[in-house]
Amino acid sequence: MIAPVVVVGGGLAGISAAVRLSSAGRRVVVIESRGKLGGRATSFVDPRDGTTLDNCQHVLMGCCTNLLDLYERLGVLDAIRWHPTIHWANPPHEPDAMVPGWCPAPAHFMGSFLRMRFLSRKSKRAVARAMWQMIRLGRDGRGRWSGRPFVEFLAASAQTPEATEKFWDPIVTSACNLPCASVDASSAMLVFQQGFLQDSWSPVMGLPSVPLISLYDPAVKIIETAGGSVRLGESALALSYDGSRIAAVVTDEGSIECSVAICALPPDRLLKICSETLRRADSRLARLDEFTFSPILGVHLFFDQKVMRTPHLVLPGRRTHWLFDKGIDSWGRHHVHAVISAADAWMDLDEGDIVARVMTDLVWAIPQASGIEPLAYRTVKERRATIACTPGIDAIRPGAARDGIRGGIDNLFLAGDWCASGWPATMEGAVRSGSMAASAVLGSGGLVGDVPASWLARMLGL
Ligand SMILES: Cc1cc2nc3c(=O)[nH]c(=O)nc-3n(C[C@H](O)[C@H](O)[C@H](O)COP(=O)(O)OP(=O)(O)OC[C@H]3O[C@@H](n4cnc5c(N)ncnc54)[C@H](O)[C@@H]3O)c2cc1C
Repeated sequence: MIAPVVVVGGGLAGISAAVRLSSAGRRVVVIESRGKLGGRATSFVDPRDGTTLDNCQHVLMGCCTNLLDLYERLGVLDAIRWHPTIHWANPPHEPDAMVPGWCPAPAHFMGSFLRMRFLSRKSKRAVARAMWQMIRLGRDGRGRWSGRPFVEFLAASAQTPEATEKFWDPIVTSACNLPCASVDASSAMLVFQQGFLQDSWSPVMGLPSVPLISLYDPAVKIIETAGGSVRLGESALALSYDGSRIAAVVTDEGSIECSVAICALPPDRLLKICSETLRRADSRLARLDEFTFSPILGVHLFFDQKVMRTPHLVLPGRRTHWLFDKGIDSWGRHHVHAVISAADAWMDLDEGDIVARVMTDLVWAIPQASGIEPLAYRTVKERRATIACTPGIDAIRPGAARDGIRGGIDNLFLAGDWCASGWPATMEGAVRSGSMAASAVLGSGGLVGDVPASWLARMLGL
C-alpha cells in the first residue's frame, strides 16, 4: 500500500488540506497534538462551570469564499448566521447602522454611511476620499503599497485623526490584528478592496451559531471514509529527512511513513520539528524564526439580564473593539463576548482588571447597562493569536509547494494562515493555504474564486 499523506496540525489549514485530499480519494493521516480539531479557531470546556466556550468570537465575511466552501464540504454552512448590518456604538444615541443599500458596489454603503453620526462630516469626506483612492488603485496598485505601513496611505489621503481613530483603526485592527500604524498597507487595503468595496455580499458578516468545535466533527468522517485517520493527542517531534525527501513524521508515539508531508503548523511550531539540515535543504524554511506575533483577548461575560440590544457592536475609539450578544447559555445567563485585537497592552493584566476595563467600555457603549455587574466572567489570552502582518511580511511568507527556481523538497508542503495565500492571517487565509497545499499535491484543483465585483466596481478599476 502507498504510504499516506501525513498532515501535521489539525487547525483550519490542516483540516482544509485533509478534506480536499480525502475527497479526491487520498489516504490522509492527520496528527494533532491537542485532543481536538480546530487549532486557534476552536472551543474549550471551562473547568469552572463545564460550559463550552469558544476561545474567541470568530467572524467571517461573505468574501471568505474558501472558508465557506470548506463549511459546505463539512455540511455546516447552515450553522452560520449572516448579519448584513454592522452596528457602531454612538452613545448616548442609538448605535449607527452601516448596511448595504440598493446602489451597486462600491456605492452600496453610501446611504447608511452618510446617515452615521459618530463621524463628523469632515471625517466622512476624508474616509470617502481614501476609499475612492483604494478603488482607483485597484489590486495591482495595492501591491505597490506592500512594504509600507497603512498609516502612510492614510496620511497621503489626508485623513483626520478622528477618521483614523474611530473608523480605520477599529476595522483594520479587527481584521488584521494590528493597528493602522503598524500593519502592512497592502494587507489592510485587501480588507477594504475585497471585503467592503467590490460587491455588496462580501462585507456581510457571518457568525457561527454553534460552538466552533462542532463545525469540525464531519471532517473526521470524510477523512476516515477515504481510509485515513485523525490522531488526536499525538505530537509531531521531527520530520525524518533522507537527504532528498521526507520519509516519515516522527511523533511522540512512533514514526509514520509518508508519501507526502503537509505541515500545517504555525511557524514557531514548525521550526521546532525542522532540523538545521532540513532548513538548509528548503528555502521556505529558512526564515521561520523571523515571524513575530500579535495577541488577541477574548472576554466572556455572563449577566442575569439582557444587556445588548443589537447582535453586536463596534466600539469606535475605545480599547475594547467589539461586543457580541451570544444569547442565553445553558445556565440561563445572558452571555456577552468582548474582543480586543492587537491586545499587547492587556496581556499582563489580571482577570479582574481586564473585566473592569471591558465593563467601562460596555457601559460607555450601552449606557442602559450602567450598574449591572457580570455574574461570572472568563478571559482568554491568545498571546500568539496571529502573525504580525507588518510591512515586509510578504517577503518571508512561504508558498505551499517547493519553489521552481530556488528548489526545495518535493514531497514537503506547507500550510497555515502565515503562509503566502494572498490573504492576511485569518481563517480564510488558513483554509486557502490548506487548499493550495492539497491542490499542489494532487496537481489539480485550486482555490474557489472570489466573489465577482459589481459592474460598477469593475468599471472603476476594482
Ligand atoms: C483569539 C483569536 C481570535 C481570532 N479571530 C478571528 C476572526 O474573527 N476571524 C478570522 O478569520 N480569524 C480569526 N483568528 C485567526 C484564526 O483563528 C487563524 O487564522 C486560523 O485558525 C489559523 O489556522 P491554522 O490552521 O493556520 O493554524 P492553527 O489553528 O494554529 O493550527 C495548527 C494546529 O497544529 C497543532 N500543532 C502544533 N504543534 C503540533 C505538533 N508538533 N504536532 C501536531 N500538531 C501540532 C496545534 O495544536 C493546532 O491545532 C483569530 C485567532 C485567535 C487566536
